[in-house]
Amino acid sequence: MKQSAYLVLNSGSSSLKFSLILSHNASTHLIGLAECLNSPDASISINYSETAKKQTISLPDADHKTILNKVLDVITAHSDKISLAGVGHRVVHGGEKFKASTLITNEVQQEIEACNPLAPLHNPANLLGIQQISTLMPELPQVAVFDTAFHQTIPEKAFLYALPYEYYQELGVRKYGFHGTSHQFVMQQAIETLDLDPESNGLITAHLGNGSSVCAIKNSKSIDTSMGLTPLAGLVMGTRSGDIDPGLHAFLVKKLDISLEQLTSILNKKSGLLGLSGETNDMRKLCQLAETGHLKAQIALEVFCYVLAKQIASLSVNLEQLNAIVFTGGIGENSALIRQKTVDNLAIFKLKLEPTLNKNNGDESGVISCSKTSSYKVMVIATNEELMIAKQTQSIIESGE
Ligand code: AMP
Repeated sequence: MKQSAYLVLNSGSSSLKFSLILSHNASTHLIGLAECLNSPDASISINYSETAKKQTISLPDADHKTILNKVLDVITAHSDKISLAGVGHRVVHGGEKFKASTLITNEVQQEIEACNPLAPLHNPANLLGIQQISTLMPELPQVAVFDTAFHQTIPEKAFLYALPYEYYQELGVRKYGFHGTSHQFVMQQAIETLDLDPESNGLITAHLGNGSSVCAIKNSKSIDTSMGLTPLAGLVMGTRSGDIDPGLHAFLVKKLDISLEQLTSILNKKSGLLGLSGETNDMRKLCQLAETGHLKAQIALEVFCYVLAKQIASLSVNLEQLNAIVFTGGIGENSALIRQKTVDNLAIFKLKLEPTLNKNNGDESGVISCSKTSSYKVMVIATNEELMIAKQTQSIIESGE
């Protein structure tokens, strides 16, 4: 008997991540990554969960269309076992228009396109994936799952910048926030694990990966987050600066005699952990360097954890209760050192981690705090954005919304 499955696509400008998730048990059938699109090194690597088989397909100069054709070929090669029920797309920016995931129609595609100025690197690539599927498999239902949608519950006092109000009205300048799918996923896991009331809870979720953000959640809704109009704001990230003084642009453009575009590129690609350490944007390598006594690596870790703690504390300001602080993402799920240093910077919160649980990245409950001394929990929860996208895609397609 054939198994129904959903294809999840995360289409970037030069890469494409995909996974095939089975409907009946939400398990991952295969997961793949196409990299270096439009270059001689373009290739697809696929991991098959059932057999643990790995496959690499070299496709020199392949574009999105060629890659997607190949991905669909791979899936149809399993058509005796798998029947594709739909495609879920990660779409980075849904502006104020999209407050939830939605079935993709021509009108929805136009509205996603209208958000392109807000995410010029990401949204056009996401649209390319949508258009390719429409061309190759026009009958297949597609769903857009937006990175911004979960944060659409943030109130005006938290999303407005103190700029002339017409910039918001006419240009859409406001805080949007990103990583919404991940924050929502770990929130649901925390509510379930701690048996919290979905209508009455308070959580801080910290998604710490190459890109990082913190989200304050009240009664299962995002009420504030550290990223802003763009994913450059907030925390120190791999290569992104996070928050800086708005006066810094004028100062550096003049001092370094560079253009605004060059400075924007420095803030996005040469700052953060890479800029501070002068060595690497990779947290694991940075921790190893710091251990060998590398001073700038140690400083980068200190700044990272201090800024993170500061964001956690400031975003807690409008919570009426705090049930848990949740760490997720490559760094949040794996680095006991970063979690410990962050908690150390939050002395006023009176948190204490249980050392063995922290070292082991938590037990099956994910809790890493001492039950005796901490009034609320610190948790490690593995995020799974693909699963969240697949679940939302299935739910929308099955309900025909
Ligand atoms: P992501 O973007 O979620 O895949 O996370 C990538 C980041 O997680 C990189 O900076 C990795 O170095 C970091 N990371 C993964 N494992 C560890 C670890 N054991 N300790 C510290 N950082 C880690």
